[in-house]
Amino acid sequence: METVYRDKSRCCGCSACRSLCGAGAVEMRADEEGFLYPVIDQEKCVNCGRCRLACPFEKEDHYQNQGGSKFYAAKHRSQDVLRRSASGGAFTALSDAVLADGGVVYGADFDGEFRVRHARAETVEQRDRMRISKYAQSHMGTMFIRAAEDLKAGRRVLFTGTPCQLAGLKAFLGSGRGGSELLENLYLCDLICHSVPSPLVWADLVSLLEEEYGGRLAEVEFRTKDLPWNRVNSKKTFTFRLEGCGRTYVDNRFYELYFGRMTIMRPSCENCPFCSPRRTGDVTIADYWGVEKYAPELDDPLGVSLVLSNTEKGRELLEKCRADLTLQERPSSEAMTEQGRLSTPVSYPEDRAEFWETYRRDGLAATLKI
Ligand SMILES: Cc1cc2nc3c(=O)[nH]c(=O)nc-3n(C[C@H](O)[C@H](O)[C@H](O)COP(=O)(O)OP(=O)(O)OC[C@H]3O[C@@H](n4cnc5c(N)ncnc54)[C@H](O)[C@@H]3O)c2cc1C
Repeated sequence: METVYRDKSRCCGCSACRSLCGAGAVEMRADEEGFLYPVIDQEKCVNCGRCRLACPFEKEDHYQNQGGSKFYAAKHRSQDVLRRSASGGAFTALSDAVLADGGVVYGADFDGEFRVRHARAETVEQRDRMRISKYAQSHMGTMFIRAAEDLKAGRRVLFTGTPCQLAGLKAFLGSGRGGSELLENLYLCDLICHSVPSPLVWADLVSLLEEEYGGRLAEVEFRTKDLPWNRVNSKKTFTFRLEGCGRTYVDNRFYELYFGRMTIMRPSCENCPFCSPRRTGDVTIADYWGVEKYAPELDDPLGVSLVLSNTEKGRELLEKCRADLTLQERPSSEAMTEQGRLSTPVSYPEDRAEFWETYRRDGLAATLKI
């Protein structure tokens, strides 16, 4: 089997190559850390080379916009939406604007086993499942192909995800699938992304919690608002419930590996070309960290969003949200100071390889004890 990418530090697993291979020769396979990588089946491959040409890591501008973004502090006017969103509910306002126009929304959801998957929403109920950050890399499946079908049918599409996923979608749609006409109805919303954690570690944690607490997991919230929203609390807000049990438990061991020891992120995150004010989305959403210093009148224990409008289309979409969102334009320097991932990628600790060696040998429970 041959690979599409040069090495693992240059593959974000976006699946553009797999989605556009007409011969069906590219398959996404999980490695020993649980991250998906494209492999080529030589028997089916017709050597057209399109898979390698489309790779967002190989394209010089990585499908990024020109910059010149406007920066806003944003907060949904509904307390209920704020409570059910990771930050200030910007995603709900943006997606409501598209759904109200008869459009379709794509974003990250859980499947029945709490695996993180991209999904398609045509209703508010389906969209609501996409709310709240899910800290494991989401599996794209066939969602690029579904989005292209929606665009061909003349539907408006809001596609949300990490900047590398949106770069992958742009690569896929730009590869002879109807060109600019198709892109007219496409709205892209990226996140400022710290990095993406391993789906394997997340799946192992789900099993471990079920074993330790004795029952099936019924509900998971990576960013609960039971504690006031702020940067310090954001690393303590993982809660879950078990089937048939009214109690909510808190368990921060996953966050310790993700934000603390920094061992469980995808190798390409350390080499991420998207940690830049030049974005892949028409709109970018994140937490407005530091709002208590810069605009205390906007601070809210239920959350405040940072929103960047990066293109004309982004500005047009944001305008449609004014009835739902309190929006205040802010100097870009605030976000550039508070958001490390707008300028530099994460650095891995020196013991990353050692961590994975122990993981492979002894499993998650053993690594949590070290
Ligand atoms: C892996 C990851 C890392 C992040 N890193 C940062 C950071 O460094 N700084 C920062 O300020 N914000 C970061 N965020 C974004 C932040 O946590 C909020 O998701 C964002 O502010 C949107 O909040 P909201 O209140 O508008 O809406 P919500 O309703 O909470 O937003 C949910 C949105 O996030 C998307 N989403 C959720 N999980 C995933 C996933 N696994 N992969 C792709 N898309 C997903 C959904 O599709 C939806 O669009 C990160 C999010 C994720 C998933």
